[in-house]
Amino acid sequence: MRHLTVSFLHSFWESCAMASLKTVQYIFVHTAADPRQSGKADTTVADITRWHVARGWTTIGYHYVVRRDGTVETGRLVTQEGAHVRGLNHCSIGICLSGNHDLAPMTAKQRAALLQLLETLCRKYGLPSNAVLGHKEVNTLVAAGQLDKIYATSKSCPGRYVDMRAIRQELAQLLKQEDKKQ
Ligand SMILES: [Zn+2]
Repeated sequence: MRHLTVSFLHSFWESCAMASLKTVQYIFVHTAADPRQSGKADTTVADITRWHVARGWTTIGYHYVVRRDGTVETGRLVTQEGAHVRGLNHCSIGICLSGNHDLAPMTAKQRAALLQLLETLCRKYGLPSNAVLGHKEVNTLVAAGQLDKIYATSKSCPGRYVDMRAIRQELAQLLKQEDKKQ
């Protein structure tokens, strides 16, 4: 019941008002969980916008979509709160990967584009690599007492083929390299 209330309120606020995103503490990575083409569909911002509007939202909940061909599409304006991770929308950016990563891995181009986007955003907002989390990793924040347990998720997002630890390690290297150049 409590969950129902929370998700109702979430939808309510989402559909009424898009608050501005004032601080960025986290970047969350998601999978589109697109059921088409055995997880290899090149899901677009237009596709996801259609799904989210059908839920009664104003527009797409994510700020960026990284396509399987490496294209980065802009979704919701990054100056506005997203709708992608309950409890932390007010302080996070949401990136969605096209396809379904419980069914298929990222393409090499998609993975490279994700890393590049993460590097750009981490620099812009002054974030370390460990501010980048997969959606399901909210549960580690819950376990650490940094997020209320009502926000724990049972989702597998961003999918079993996305190794967030490896992504963070490579991102940390990218951020370090550039530091040396400066
Ligand atoms: Zn997600």
